[in-house]
Amino acid sequence: MAARGDQIVWLGQTRDLPAVLARDAFETRDAQGRLITPGLIDCHTHLVFGGDRSQEWRLKLSGAPYDEIARAGGGIVSTVAATRAASEADLTRSALTRLDSLLADGATTVEIKSGYGLSLEDELKMLRVARGLAAERKVRVRTTLLAAHTVPPEFRTDRAAYVRQIIEVIIPASVGLTDAVDAFCETIAFTPEETRAIFEAAAAHGLPVKLHADQLTDSGGAALAASFGALSADHLEYASPDGLAAMAAAGTTAVLLPGAYYVLSEPVKPPVDVMRKLGLPMAVASDCNPGTSPMASLRLAMHLAVTLFGLAPEEALAGTTRNAARALGLGDQLGQLKPGAQCDLALWDTDQPDAVIYWLGRLPQCQRVVGGLTV
Ligand SMILES: [Zn+2]
Repeated sequence: MAARGDQIVWLGQTRDLPAVLARDAFETRDAQGRLITPGLIDCHTHLVFGGDRSQEWRLKLSGAPYDEIARAGGGIVSTVAATRAASEADLTRSALTRLDSLLADGATTVEIKSGYGLSLEDELKMLRVARGLAAERKVRVRTTLLAAHTVPPEFRTDRAAYVRQIIEVIIPASVGLTDAVDAFCETIAFTPEETRAIFEAAAAHGLPVKLHADQLTDSGGAALAASFGALSADHLEYASPDGLAAMAAAGTTAVLLPGAYYVLSEPVKPPVDVMRKLGLPMAVASDCNPGTSPMASLRLAMHLAVTLFGLAPEEALAGTTRNAARALGLGDQLGQLKPGAQCDLALWDTDQPDAVIYWLGRLPQCQRVVGGLTV
């Protein structure tokens, strides 16, 4: 493999290396038989948040229903309160601990959503913190505005006013800080009609959309995402065959999030067989978040996608490389080893591709290359 600047320019057998590349190379490295994959891409995370909800787990384990957990000060509202109270420095510090875990497991690109601020000021704060992480570590960061994550407490009696606030104030102000707009379309979150209005506002500002779709019920989220040409629809446990077919036709990537499925002990799996038959590209992500997917490892996400959802190991690896890049609208630049792609790599201390997914915990170890630079 040869790279110039931050791009891969050649791949092949050493004996076929063009003489000019061999002559001009100022650095030559021998991978010593190690497996090289594209750097892993986590295309769905909620990495930036305040507080800690590990205490809630005890309540959940004892069978406490959601409203009891919320009354005990838990649930998403507690993360919103802690995130609003946190300074940018505090949020950066706590996010870096999780980011470092993702990077140690081979990630070179991480998508990060807002969605725990739920006010103009706090959503922009989250996006700034997320973007700022790229200055702290060698990693590519993509940001997604998720103001439509839940209705904040102060708007509980007038949710239409909050949707208007997203459309008229938060989306316009996020231009330049966000790469996409996301929403949680679900019976416990935003309706398809509200989601549609939010997506129309995103489109008016030239922002692509993504959707938390059909996780707990079939809300028609897959078809709704497809009708806006969404980059991705994520979760999809309850997505209908028609909705998935619409996604395939629209070029929308299906993002599978086995961490949340596992932690919530969901009874229904995403319809992977239907996705396969449709040729729908499947990505796999950590969904790293404090409430439903306390997981900061793409390798564990891949392992769960294989063991719980029945993906083949090579499908799981495509899910955190090629298809994850598609889910971020970066399919032409990232996630593949090919001339013209960014030279983002993971070098694994194994020559067995399956070993990257098979082992639980941080084995085999890996070294990352981002934009041609070893980090
Ligand atoms: Zn999510």
